[in-house]
Amino acid sequence: MSFLELKNITKIYPNGTKAVNETSLNIEHGEFMVFVGPSGCGKSTLLRMIAGLEDITGGEIDLDGKTINKIDPSERDIAMVFQNYALYPHMNVYKNLAYGLKNKGESKEEINKKVNDVAELLEIHEYLQRKPGQLSGGQRQRVAMGRAIVRNPKVFLFDEPLSNLDAQLRGQVRIEIKKLQRSMNVTSVFVTHDQVEAMTLGDRLAVINNGIIEQIGTPIEVYETPKTLFVAEFIGTPKMNFINGKIKNQKFVAGKTEVSSNNLPDNDEAILGFRPEDLIVDNNGKFLLNVEIIEKLGADSLIYGTDQNQNLLCLRVNGNTKINVNEKINLSVSEDKYHFFDATNNIRLN
Ligand code: ADP
Repeated sequence: MSFLELKNITKIYPNGTKAVNETSLNIEHGEFMVFVGPSGCGKSTLLRMIAGLEDITGGEIDLDGKTINKIDPSERDIAMVFQNYALYPHMNVYKNLAYGLKNKGESKEEINKKVNDVAELLEIHEYLQRKPGQLSGGQRQRVAMGRAIVRNPKVFLFDEPLSNLDAQLRGQVRIEIKKLQRSMNVTSVFVTHDQVEAMTLGDRLAVINNGIIEQIGTPIEVYETPKTLFVAEFIGTPKMNFINGKIKNQKFVAGKTEVSSNNLPDNDEAILGFRPEDLIVDNNGKFLLNVEIIEKLGADSLIYGTDQNQNLLCLRVNGNTKINVNEKINLSVSEDKYHFFDATNNIRLN
């Protein structure tokens, strides 16, 4: 039995929108699980059902051996951190942190100790007397985290908590959240549409599309072996290159391009995918790229162009590339870096 189990969860809103469709998932104690997918895929709805903020249309959620479908949110022992912080503007930081504990009827001494411990953990002691309006976005986010931590919950739920922060601060707070989660070992579920956030935070990811989990796995499993075309396209920046073609007798053929790969089933509507960093400049390579645009990012360069069949391709190389616009270069991909999909059902073939 896992610590948090979602069994065939469905959510249909009163207007008929099916936001989550028979979804099942097991989360282990202490695990950091990330729900990732594009806007509108149903990830917040799933999170809000765990929190008890949305009714569950069908299925069962079990936490620590107990079914929680009908348990009031305040009794679930779950703490949620939101994007908009949800702090009380008229209360100072101390009172914001103490609020939940006071409501539970804890003594002044107990509350004081807990608030001070959390303030120390998060290094927010110096602004305990300030109101949220007198704090920066990053500091407010830390107080919101503190309010969740002080309750000592069984589960932390994060609903896109970093999306109001600027890029640099996002990176910093992301590392803080990861460190805190590790040290506290609290089971956590984090919702984001940002695949970099998902890859860096999650022990495992659930990649969601249209109310369905398309793949569950560690970040590297999902990156290296995407099970569907959607996952292949969604995870990775710049995204995977794709070429449409046919597979016959262990050969993928697209116009003038032909590549071999073992153990491939014949398929009249197949897609070959490979990642920009898996393309190699190689005089004998089968892809002839006409270079159109070069983006020099410092640590690496991205080279965009079209191949002999007019497919758009992107190649990533280290450092400051010597390749120039309008150059024609031959590229190859090692056979173990090929991803094949069936274009009719989008399922992985190899
Ligand atoms: P995400 O968090 O992945 O952006 P949501 O879970 O918020 O997605 O929404 C999933 C789907 O459910 C979307 O199509 C959204 O428009 C719809 N939806 C969300 N909340 C409601 C609601 N209260 N009533 C009707 N439809 C909703």
